[in-house]
Amino acid sequence: MAQRNEANEETNSAAAAGHLRDADENDSFFMGFALGEARLARDAGEVPIGAIVVIDNQIVGSGHNHPIGSSDPTAHAEIIALREAARRIGNYRLTEATLYVTIEPCAMCAGAIVNARIKRLVYGAADLRAGGVDTVFQICTNGSLNHQVEVTSGTRAEDGRRLMQAFFKQRRKNKPDDDSANLANNDEGGRRLEVASDDDE
Ligand SMILES: [Zn+2]
Repeated sequence: MAQRNEANEETNSAAAAGHLRDADENDSFFMGFALGEARLARDAGEVPIGAIVVIDNQIVGSGHNHPIGSSDPTAHAEIIALREAARRIGNYRLTEATLYVTIEPCAMCAGAIVNARIKRLVYGAADLRAGGVDTVFQICTNGSLNHQVEVTSGTRAEDGRRLMQAFFKQRRKNKPDDDSANLANNDEGGRRLEVASDDDE
């Protein structure tokens, strides 16, 4: 809570100072908070993905990935952030909200984003293995569903991707008995991220 209040103070003062000059800059700015959430996940030993929900330049929900710690397969960053935002505004539909997430949402989260009637989704690096928005499935823009989401991708992708790669590199180091190749391919977080082909993924 304290953290979010600080964040909102910062967003307010930045807006007041005219620092949020254009949409791209605004997106990069808010993605910074999602990246902060991703670091919280990393510090807890979870796959480092973070998300925030923004309405009228205010952060109304935030979350980081923690399915292991909470023994909850649905505890992805986006789900946590959506739940918090909906509770906070007292409405299960978030029609004016933008969701920022460091990595392309999976199919489950993309479905939740559609169900929440999120207006706009901004994500960082694509998830070539399990992406539910652009790469494997195109759930958020699917014309067969009764809501389509505006999607912006690639925002601070390098920052989000670097967090993921450092995390898995460290994890492989900590588990020398593991078959690195299998870990990279089979582990939930062993996602193949865009521009990751030059790495050891
Ligand atoms: Zn997800």
